[in-house]
Amino acid sequence: MRISEAQIEQIRISADIVDVISSHVQLRKRGKNFIGLCPFHNEKTPSFTVSQDKQIFHCFGCHSGGNVFKFLMEYKKISFVESIQEMAAELGITLEYENQKSEAEQSETEILYDINTSVAKFFSDNLLKEEDGNIARKYFEERKIKPQTLRSFGLGYCPDHWDATINFLNKNNIDIEKSLQLGVIGKSDKGKLYDKFAGRMIFPIFSPNGRVIGFGGRIFDAREGAAKYLNSPESKIYHKGRTLYGLSHGKDEIRRHDLAIVVEGYMDLISLHQHGVKNVVAVSGTAFTDEQVQLLSRYTKNTVLLFDADTAGVKASMRSIEILLKQNMNIKIATLPKGEDPDSFVQKNGSDAFLDVISRAVNFLEYQTAIFEEQGYFNDAAKSAEAIRELVKPVALLNDELKRSFLLKSIAEKFGLREKLLEAELEKAIIAANKFPVQEQIQKEKVKLKKISEADDVKMPPAEFRNEQEIIILLFEENEQITRYLLDHVNPDEFQIAYHRILAHLVYDALINDEALRISTLLEKIEDEKLQEYLLEITFEKYLISDVWDQRKPENKEKRLLKYANDLIKFFKLYHLEKEIMQNHALVEKAEDEEEALRLMKNGHMLYARKKEIEKGNY
Ligand SMILES: [Zn+2]
Repeated sequence: MRISEAQIEQIRISADIVDVISSHVQLRKRGKNFIGLCPFHNEKTPSFTVSQDKQIFHCFGCHSGGNVFKFLMEYKKISFVESIQEMAAELGITLEYENQKSEAEQSETEILYDINTSVAKFFSDNLLKEEDGNIARKYFEERKIKPQTLRSFGLGYCPDHWDATINFLNKNNIDIEKSLQLGVIGKSDKGKLYDKFAGRMIFPIFSPNGRVIGFGGRIFDAREGAAKYLNSPESKIYHKGRTLYGLSHGKDEIRRHDLAIVVEGYMDLISLHQHGVKNVVAVSGTAFTDEQVQLLSRYTKNTVLLFDADTAGVKASMRSIEILLKQNMNIKIATLPKGEDPDSFVQKNGSDAFLDVISRAVNFLEYQTAIFEEQGYFNDAAKSAEAIRELVKPVALLNDELKRSFLLKSIAEKFGLREKLLEAELEKAIIAANKFPVQEQIQKEKVKLKKISEADDVKMPPAEFRNEQEIIILLFEENEQITRYLLDHVNPDEFQIAYHRILAHLVYDALINDEALRISTLLEKIEDEKLQEYLLEITFEKYLISDVWDQRKPENKEKRLLKYANDLIKFFKLYHLEKEIMQNHALVEKAEDEEEALRLMKNGHMLYARKKEIEKGNY
């Protein structure tokens, strides 16, 4: 059963986002937009903004946002299709369903999701119902995991026959090639198919909105040459570095408590859930990635890390701390008694004792100091200087100056040091820290672009960056004439910032395919959630000329927009031309012979002439 694109579009156009949201959230008008208290995180001053013009919403606090369907999905915890059905009922539109499309028509990723869902069901049935699953059932029983918990996390078992999954796939006419891509089965060098997860307990890995994107398989006992954990390989729908285990199950509680407890193992998380502690995510054995932190920060800024006290655990937690700090997360660290993990601890002592441990979590500085103390760093002068330098390092990663000086003070007090001395250390550490990716550099220049993480981004001066951003904002103004005009003069590939390039291409494609230029429609085509957020954020931000044009007569708006577009194009072109001139200049200096120098100088003259023309407005 499918609803046609045309009908979805019809509903999208007929629905009014302000009406829909108003029946759940109290909104009041401010300027062009409506604001209210965000339903997705706790707040006292409104940062939840709705645009009636553009039919989108965005929260500046927790970064949730999207179109009317997205609101209903998040608010009512329903699927995309359900949100459409709900809107249709509200609007009195009768939905006509298309017949199941052929495989070729169904989108590729949907097929992959479907395969994973079927396979997850197969694994789960094995665990819950089949004779084969006895061994796994016994294991979970011993670990005191209730059947209800097994079901809610979709846990499963893959029989130890090396062909059980393959037989299941064949019996259900499931695409073998795609199942190989997803890594639920493997192929030997000789071309023989086999079950990848044979004899393993299965932990399905869910996307934040609850779709099965991959599997983790755990072995019962150490088998010769077999890894304890086996994870699905990266695929079109599974990106390990962008996935947090347990987020789909815990995100509401994480928002409600405004806190995420971070544990290491899947079993730790599941066991905590069973004991009613649900604001938990698991990063299995490795450090956080930037993308995982960004994902988590949509739900809360506050984390308590709970890692094993062994050396590997400590190392992983130090790396995680750095990554969390760089993204302005608040971090505390809790430690369990030696030899305990969250699972064993909560089984033995119950959830109250566990929450007590969490409430006694210390800040990262105290934690790190304790480690240095334990390793005897403060017993000799040279080593203690080294320890202090190490302690200052993570402080330099903070973007918040206030937080920085507060922490510096606490180090100074702790070690009886002069603050000036530490400040000098901090300066050095900050300079070192800023050799980091472009992204932090931009942030330092106070340009708002928190979420760019594309590796190929170059450093851009703030004014030029802002100019690019303004062009993107105008492209999403839903004004076809202006969009056409801008894209006639600016090539999407010429944007320096990767996010801008992608967004410009999106509008460009819609334009040449004669599709809607509405941002509420285009948003759904963006797969990268961070990019969606970025677009929403800059769309709701006041663009530079908006103040002026709102006050003037609306009939002049078109003219003024066009003039503004011209200014932006001019600046954009000049930036690129000046770069070219500079490059040319450098080449002249390095020219090997006179002939080459002459040719380059000629080229330089040409570039200058073009610059003059552009300055006059001819481009
Ligand atoms: Zn919010």
